[in-house]
Amino acid sequence: MKILDDRKQQIIRHGLHTAPIVCEKHSVAGSVSQRACVFCGSRVVLYPITDALHLVHGPIGCAAYTWDIRGAQSSGEQLYRNSFSTDLREMDVIYGGEKKLYHALCELIDAHQPRAAFVYSTCIVGVIGDDVGAVCKRVAAEKNIPVLPVHSEGFKGTKKDGYRAACEAVYQLIGTAKDNGPIQHSINILGDFNLAGETWIIRDYYRRIGINVVACITGDARVDDIRQAHRARLNLVQCSGSMAALGAMMERDYHIPLKRVSYFGIEDMSAALYEAAKFFGDDPEILRRAEKLVRDEVGKIYPHLREFRKKLAGKKAAIYVGGAFKAFSLVRALKMLGMRTAVVGSQTGGPEDYRQLQEICDPGTVIVDDATPLELAQFCLEQDVDLLIGGVKERPIAYKMGIAFCDHNHERKEPLAGFVGMLNFAREVCNSVTSPVWQFAPRRRGRSLSATGNREMAA
Ligand code: SF4
Repeated sequence: MKILDDRKQQIIRHGLHTAPIVCEKHSVAGSVSQRACVFCGSRVVLYPITDALHLVHGPIGCAAYTWDIRGAQSSGEQLYRNSFSTDLREMDVIYGGEKKLYHALCELIDAHQPRAAFVYSTCIVGVIGDDVGAVCKRVAAEKNIPVLPVHSEGFKGTKKDGYRAACEAVYQLIGTAKDNGPIQHSINILGDFNLAGETWIIRDYYRRIGINVVACITGDARVDDIRQAHRARLNLVQCSGSMAALGAMMERDYHIPLKRVSYFGIEDMSAALYEAAKFFGDDPEILRRAEKLVRDEVGKIYPHLREFRKKLAGKKAAIYVGGAFKAFSLVRALKMLGMRTAVVGSQTGGPEDYRQLQEICDPGTVIVDDATPLELAQFCLEQDVDLLIGGVKERPIAYKMGIAFCDHNHERKEPLAGFVGMLNFAREVCNSVTSPVWQFAPRRRGRSLSATGNREMAA
């Protein structure tokens, strides 16, 4: 396959290339990156704050693009599922959109009585120079709720910059609740978005071992919980790409240490519980309860996993996810099912992420940063993978190539975190990989990616 010259250093084959992968750079113009824009990065992080108002200051397309973008579940409030927009038009671009923003904010706050409001800047706002911060400040004073600007102009960086803008916005809320001091044996869960109920599973595990969860930022989040997040003793950061910045700010200002964890797969879920239990070593009962919980939960799912492993052993997978840390867990989880990862990539991985990824991958594995759809399709066919794990933008690539697919991102309906999530994951992978439908796919009929294959993909 012809790779764009500017992309060549963002793709390596583990064991064949010695130079480190190039990453954390702007997407190459014209490459049609799978990566989302800065605004989308902010929107996905803040969206699950369920009792907040989310107002997109920009053309209607930006709001439509991210409307209900995540399946983030709520245990109550539903306000967050609306996508409000100032719907900027040509006249607003000429004369400015501040007045429109002010009136939209006042009207929406009066109508919905949110606990806080987030205002997202989009590309055009960065171009015309609206002072979003000043409008937010004015409305906050008049309506007496936090109104927070999110500086997420789409063109100003990568999706990771959007994560940072979201962290900076939500950080304005932390520490604003009445401070009654630190809460004993307490944590914040950072970087789980409760896509299919994962936050509830994880919270329950921590509750069972005697650890209090102060706030989950942002899965099924409430503004009041976030306001008192500074009272937790430890921050557990799952999606490091999206939440490492917030964890670092809280460590700097509130001296709350942070630990990186993952809740996907047996090994990583167990490690996440032990990590917290050991941190609260003043109560050895917590560790004892964690050990018992892991033993009980693994005992329940292991016989089923063995059955799935028999059907999946020797199959190959490709992984393309947002944050590289999730990819580590997936590589390990696939190994447990007897599968090999032949292609792996992420939208926002850093140099250290990719170094660690190489450590756990087999020689020959293609590792790709900020992939394009054609690269992904081509590598999947070249490596003859049986499964692609990705999100909403990778699903059509897999189906067009005649490859099984597992959604590990926004649209999934089954929780894949925790011990029960590992079982769901194994079942979903097995059902998709062993589906009889793939025998009818062109690839299975022995056709290579020729001009015909490319035409089919384009169609
Ligand atoms: S912010 Fe810019 S790049 Fe993002 S959706 Fe809107 S117009 Fe597109």
